[in-house]
Amino acid sequence: MSVIETCYRCGTRYDDEFRVRCDCGEPLWIDAEPTTAAWDERRDRLGMWRYESLLPIDRPAGVARAAGGTPLVRTSGLDDVAGGRVFVKDEGENPTGSYKDRGSAVAVPHAIDAGDDVVGTVSYGNMAISTAAHATSLDRECIVFVPEDISRVRLELIAQYEPTIIRVGGEYGALYEDALELSDWLPIAALVSDDPARISGYKTALFEICEEFAPETPDVIALPASSGGFASGIWLGICDLERAGVIDEPPRLYLVQTAASDPITRAFEDGSTDPTPLSPDETGETIAHSIGNPDPPSGARALAAVRDTGGAVVSVSDDEIRAAQRQFAVEGGFCVEPASATTLAGVSRLADRGEVSAEESVVLVPTGTGFKELGTGGTDVETETVHRTGLADRLESLLPRRAD
Ligand SMILES: *Cc1c(COP(=O)(O)O)cnc(C)c1O
Ligand SMILES: [Zn+2]
Repeated sequence: MSVIETCYRCGTRYDDEFRVRCDCGEPLWIDAEPTTAAWDERRDRLGMWRYESLLPIDRPAGVARAAGGTPLVRTSGLDDVAGGRVFVKDEGENPTGSYKDRGSAVAVPHAIDAGDDVVGTVSYGNMAISTAAHATSLDRECIVFVPEDISRVRLELIAQYEPTIIRVGGEYGALYEDALELSDWLPIAALVSDDPARISGYKTALFEICEEFAPETPDVIALPASSGGFASGIWLGICDLERAGVIDEPPRLYLVQTAASDPITRAFEDGSTDPTPLSPDETGETIAHSIGNPDPPSGARALAAVRDTGGAVVSVSDDEIRAAQRQFAVEGGFCVEPASATTLAGVSRLADRGEVSAEESVVLVPTGTGFKELGTGGTDVETETVHRTGLADRLESLLPRRAD
């Protein structure tokens, strides 16, 4: 299938030559085939493959078929905290528990189509888990580069799909560029965060949201941002729909970062177009370990997305993230990971600043499930123990007797 890529920044177009970056240095994205970019041409398919005609590959076999099609749930219990009418787009319901599956479902088969025997990724989190699952489901090798000091739990989550796992010493942050270089001369496709095929897969989350709201458009969409890949995909989706004449007024895109490492927020506040990479002493520890890339490869594109749609970027502290994670569970029944809880914390801040109003529809996108992290410590659970012979008395003290 022929692929046309364009650069959002300088407009350069690349035909039939798959590349990750433009000559100007910015990441590229794949244009939907102009002739098929019609919104009303939808097939009777489940999940993200409903939008197959707007994706650069044909629907693959395997676990990719289970990607996308996540529920959008009106969650009024979060309205007060968020300051708007909340809808939760639960990306934790993807096959490996995060939105990364939408990207892997496209990027892995795309790499195989392009003749790469092996896929690789630099990650010790959801990206690694997702890429390994999608590769093995198509019976392909996957090599995952993880940091030397990766935790036991994370290693187990990745290892269940039996990729080749290589612990890498030295500066882990620099591996991103190394991996892209290695893929120039080895038959490995480095499916990193801003791989253009990945970004195409991400846009289907936006399509699903807009389709459920049609003919209305949601006022606000809030997501966490780290490398800026997901934000780029959501923006690409908005651009596709604007071009197809499906939406006039785009939803405002709000990105949330952890205050421990927030180069995109800083650039937004400074009014600059490019985030400045943060040095190690400008970053800190955070419970939101899926986010916090100090040098986001799609950071400038994420900023452009926010400015284009009239949104903003905010940072939140670990205390706010903890509170929001609890609210997601207690008020909504959702188990989300800390990185995803940032969405609620961020929107709550924006509402305090008057940027979101009570009657507006606010779509929070919890990007990953919290189930992978339960049992890793940190939360004390208080319970009581009652002998079974004392249970009736104990319950009587809690509940009124049935009226008979
Ligand atoms: C990867 C990830 C993010 C960050 O997405 P980027 O595309 O890097 O901005 C946010 N939340 C979860 C759960 C993730 O796995
Ligand atoms: Zn360019």
